[in-house]
Amino acid sequence: MPSPIIPAAEALVRLRDGNARFVANVRSVDALASLSRRIDPATQQAPFAIVLGCADSRAPAETIFDQGLGDLFVIRVAGNIVAPSQIGSVEFAAERFGTQLVVVMGHSHCGAISATVDSMQPSDRPAASRNLLSITDRIAPAVSPLMQTELVKNRPALLRAATRANVSASASHLRHGSRLLEELILNRGLIVVGAEYDLETGVVDFFDGVL
Ligand SMILES: [Zn+2]
Repeated sequence: MPSPIIPAAEALVRLRDGNARFVANVRSVDALASLSRRIDPATQQAPFAIVLGCADSRAPAETIFDQGLGDLFVIRVAGNIVAPSQIGSVEFAAERFGTQLVVVMGHSHCGAISATVDSMQPSDRPAASRNLLSITDRIAPAVSPLMQTELVKNRPALLRAATRANVSASASHLRHGSRLLEELILNRGLIVVGAEYDLETGVVDFFDGVL
């Protein structure tokens, strides 16, 4: 029997509650039980949220949101960028499983963000590989306007603003870069929100697109 579709607002509450447990250092019985459980492959998965996060080893969505097997459909790529394969992955999950909440999650101390900022400032570092450039080039348009502001004099503040600008750009790209996702947003209650995970406190701040 297919699982009922969980509305985006309810999915967001589950993520906030799970993150509060993570911050308080308590794991839910459900998450622990499902981590020790084998999944029956005959049962279709029914993730209640899609998370596009960074590949950083310190930012695993399942842990940060205290969720178990089958709960989250997670896409991870350095700098949580949106390229065609990420859009395709989100389309797949949203269409196939009816998942209604998409979270783009950046994080503090992101190497992809600092590499992008470094690439926009004069430096004697060796040039990045073409493959790495394919990531920083996708982040650069969101960061570029910040480089014309006073923020360039304060690197921590610049990096924080750049992280958030990149999350907002990725979320906007998902909202407007796919006809299928636009249709799901208009007619089926899909929402795309942006968040930042703070490595020091463990707190995830949903700051973009939350009603
Ligand atoms: Zn990162």
